[in-house]
Amino acid sequence: MIIAIDGPAGAGKSTVARLAAAALCFVYIDTGALYRAVGLAAMRAGADLNDPGAVAAVLPGVRLSITYDESGGQHIFLGSEDVSLSIRTPECSMAASAVGRVPAVRAFLLETQRSLARARSSVLDGRDIGTVVLPEADVKIFLTASPEERAARRWKELQARGVDEPYEKVLAEVVERDRQDTGRPIAPLRPAEDSVTLDTTGLTLEEAVARVVNLARQNAPAE
Ligand code: C5P
Repeated sequence: MIIAIDGPAGAGKSTVARLAAAALCFVYIDTGALYRAVGLAAMRAGADLNDPGAVAAVLPGVRLSITYDESGGQHIFLGSEDVSLSIRTPECSMAASAVGRVPAVRAFLLETQRSLARARSSVLDGRDIGTVVLPEADVKIFLTASPEERAARRWKELQARGVDEPYEKVLAEVVERDRQDTGRPIAPLRPAEDSVTLDTTGLTLEEAVARVVNLARQNAPAE
């Protein structure tokens, strides 16, 4: 069974997806981490992130792999380096969004995402899982919340990690990433036609997770 959760930056997709996967005993696949790792590789290579040719030229040297620890936590490797923490900076968020506009990057990551999802029952979060990567997903959810609420959540997350950014800057980045993600010509962020929209503004985390788990149970294939 495949559950696709798409939506804008900071809607709570990763937390909701991870907890829903744990409740259902499914694997959680964070596809944003793949884009972030490619963004990190491109930054490290000194590529101009606005030049699709320069970004594409980095791809042959990118060796991505994913492992899961005992608690189901996803670790992402560039070569032999675990970059799971290094990809969580605001610079890497913007780099991920920039490289995500490059068709060669999306093609590069497509099969990785499909094979991860098809290996086991899984919950994936991303931007185009229900529309492009796995249109056959059993449940498609478009998880969203107001830009202010999403920025406030992201700001708290960064503070908890010791990254001190003004709220206004985080909000500006959320709005800019929405613009980039919805406005790109390839795989733009939009709800799949057969998706259920779940607006988490004003919902607790537990409520949001319960809705996802219920949708999964309602749509489970008959035994
Ligand atoms: O979900 P996360 O914030 O980690 O994603 C980082 C960026 O990667 C997004 O802003 C988006 O541009 C890109 N992305 C994507 N398709 C996905 C997942 C992420 O384009 N499936």
